[in-house]
Amino acid sequence: MKLYNTLTKQVEEFIPHEEGIVRLYTCGPTVYHFAHIGNLRTYIFEDILEKGFQYLGYQVKRVMNITDVGHLTSDSDTGEDKMLQGAEREGKTVYEIAQFYTNAFFEDCKKLNIRKPDVVEPASHHIDTYIEMISKMLEDGYAYLSNGNVYFDVSKAKDYYQLSGKNPEDLMVGVRDTVEEDKAKRNPADFVLWFTDSKFKNQDMRWDSPWGLGYPGWHIECSGISGKYLGEYLDIHCGGVDNIFPHHTNEIAQSEAYFGHKWCNYWVHGEHLNDQTGKMSKSKGEFLTLSLLQEKGYNPLSYRYFCLGSHYRKVLVFSYEALDQAENAYQKLKNRIRKLDRTPDLHEEKIDYYQDKMKEAISNDLNTSSMLTLVYDVLKDEELTDFTKLYLIEDFDKVLSLNLIEEEIEVDQELESYILEKIEERNQAKKDKNYALADAIREELLKKGIRLVDSKEKTTYEIL
Ligand code: AMP
Ligand code: ZN
Repeated sequence: MKLYNTLTKQVEEFIPHEEGIVRLYTCGPTVYHFAHIGNLRTYIFEDILEKGFQYLGYQVKRVMNITDVGHLTSDSDTGEDKMLQGAEREGKTVYEIAQFYTNAFFEDCKKLNIRKPDVVEPASHHIDTYIEMISKMLEDGYAYLSNGNVYFDVSKAKDYYQLSGKNPEDLMVGVRDTVEEDKAKRNPADFVLWFTDSKFKNQDMRWDSPWGLGYPGWHIECSGISGKYLGEYLDIHCGGVDNIFPHHTNEIAQSEAYFGHKWCNYWVHGEHLNDQTGKMSKSKGEFLTLSLLQEKGYNPLSYRYFCLGSHYRKVLVFSYEALDQAENAYQKLKNRIRKLDRTPDLHEEKIDYYQDKMKEAISNDLNTSSMLTLVYDVLKDEELTDFTKLYLIEDFDKVLSLNLIEEEIEVDQELESYILEKIEERNQAKKDKNYALADAIREELLKKGIRLVDSKEKTTYEIL
């Protein structure tokens, strides 16, 4: 497997800490509102990454957090608390908001065939872990107490700017432009590990700590949850590009300070989905959710198909015209597959060849458009029997997850048993000389596009 590593800024051969196993951590949603389809693009990419590794024969151990505490409207410890904002907007408690939007998120994932990670943990369930980590960082001199909050001292971190490629001067400019500069920090880039001197006195989620009643900063949750479930050596950490700085940068600083060694080898980031006016957001213009697309009549999997058409490292611009094109192509593809003859007739000669091609596409920094092209190549290949085509497409769909075959078989089976029941009923009607009923059944099926064909021996059917 070759992947682009944000840490080294190059495509690299993936070498796991333990042979055949991928320890993968992916940042989860902040559950103060519905996910927008941009967020969902990132989760589709991570799903393909996980399934791609499985196709290559790896065992993937994947962990994801749910951010239900600590994420402020600015990623750099300023602004309002997002969860509290959600609770105020809807007149509910923070816990109710978190539960509601966590469920909504997984419903979206289900519609997009995004597998739920093995471990999904809300940030608020692991306060003891963060307290333990922060205490150790204070003891070891990586963190300091100031004005009631605990801060991480970035001057103690090794290569703090490696992941983002930023430099301290960039940050100084950022801080000068920021209205709410935090005077309690030693260095403008320092970040909060634990808030007590919170401006949110009405914060629902607060816990006792050695530093007083308070709550954790946003970054510590991912270091805490990842370390707890995946250990101190992580193979891959993912998220959208906006997470590179400061979130992932700060995760590296605190995890390496805590563990005392390099923590994660590969950082893989998904580019954004933009709308035609630029960055997608939850507050501006039409808030693009998966439910909105469904209300407009789109199949959620057309959106998945749309995302797979471009590489995860390229900005993708959303428009309804582009989605229409994707939906068209997706439906046409499914129709072509639906017409394949299902009579068992497997020819093994070219199976390895195509499976190797699939592995190549996956290993080539997750080239999803090549994976899709391969489905079309299989359909076009005249040396393959229809059944072999179905076999291969079903195999590729373990990664693509576009319901290219499965759904059709289920529907067909359902339809077939319905028709067979009707034929049985009609045979009985004929035996009973109830010809009116027999004709009514024939008419009923015809209206549904199913024509009965009577021969001497038996009745068969045709789909019109
Ligand atoms: P959040 O719920 O804001 O914590 O974001 C959830 C995930 O979506 C993170 O991995 C973000 O990096 C990612 N993300 C945010 N905006 C976009 C976007 N416009 N396109 C793709 N991914 C995004
Ligand atoms: Zn995270």
